[in-house]
Amino acid sequence: MDLGIKGKKAIVSAASKGLGKACAMSLAREGVDVTIIARNRDVLEATAQEIRDATGVEVIAIAADITTDQGIEEALAACNAPDIVVNNAGGPPLGDFRDWDRSDWIAALESNMLGAIFMIKAVVDGMIDRKFGRIVNITSSAVKAPIPTIGLSNGARAGLTGFVAGIARQTVCHNVTINAILPGPFDTDRLRSNINNAAKSSGREATEIAAEWAGRNPAGRFGIPEEFGDLCAYVCSQQAGFMTGQNLLLDGGSYPGTL
Ligand code: NAP
Repeated sequence: MDLGIKGKKAIVSAASKGLGKACAMSLAREGVDVTIIARNRDVLEATAQEIRDATGVEVIAIAADITTDQGIEEALAACNAPDIVVNNAGGPPLGDFRDWDRSDWIAALESNMLGAIFMIKAVVDGMIDRKFGRIVNITSSAVKAPIPTIGLSNGARAGLTGFVAGIARQTVCHNVTINAILPGPFDTDRLRSNINNAAKSSGREATEIAAEWAGRNPAGRFGIPEEFGDLCAYVCSQQAGFMTGQNLLLDGGSYPGTL
């Protein structure tokens, strides 16, 4: 299927690795020029070159912290009229809520709620004027089925989800959609680091824990980042203009509800 977005311009945040990188690659394969953001310049530049080599599109790499106003400004200076924005950032630490103080909560809100909200605020009116916009927020399956050990994520991402539910119905008449994709377990560095931490604390082999966690999923495996990236590209397509305010769960069937 031709997604009809060749020549469009996208900002993809937190995109040197994992799910963000997969979204940038899938959009680039559709002919979208991408501006990718992450903090570590070397990893980011290597990813930018990989995307250029694979697709031939223009790739701009901006080394910045996208959860800050300055990071958002630097992204917009490189791509001031994006047609597509994929909001993503690192996930907050795991733990017990009794151990988190106000600064932990503020950091989680900056990372997983306010960064995306301020990026939306900066780009949405331009998209409305140009009569095309696709905004995708990468959140988590924990928005739908909270996981107690990631309370910071449960709380901050639920806040973003509630905010978007309100505005996504106001923008769609201008062909500007705002949706979220909710990943279950995807095989990325973040997941592997969680597995390694579980291995260290339990004294078990990481491979054994990985097999156990993957086996718990109805699909019998972890998600592959490319599967995530391709769904993101579809949500950003011309054809997806009638879908807004949705929270698309991509979790191998883990969520047990009928709806
Ligand atoms: P990952 O493989 O660890 O990649 C994270 C990417 O984000 C890296 O490119 C990292 O680069 C960048 N990044 C982190 N903080 C940033 C910041 N403040 N500003 C700019 N870039 C930043 O992680 P992932 O698995 O793709 O996860 C992506 C998001 O999905 C996270 O919020 C995660 O919690 C969520 N999620 C993931 C899963 C899963 O199974 N993988 C499941 C549910 C939710 P730098 O460190 O160089 O900045």
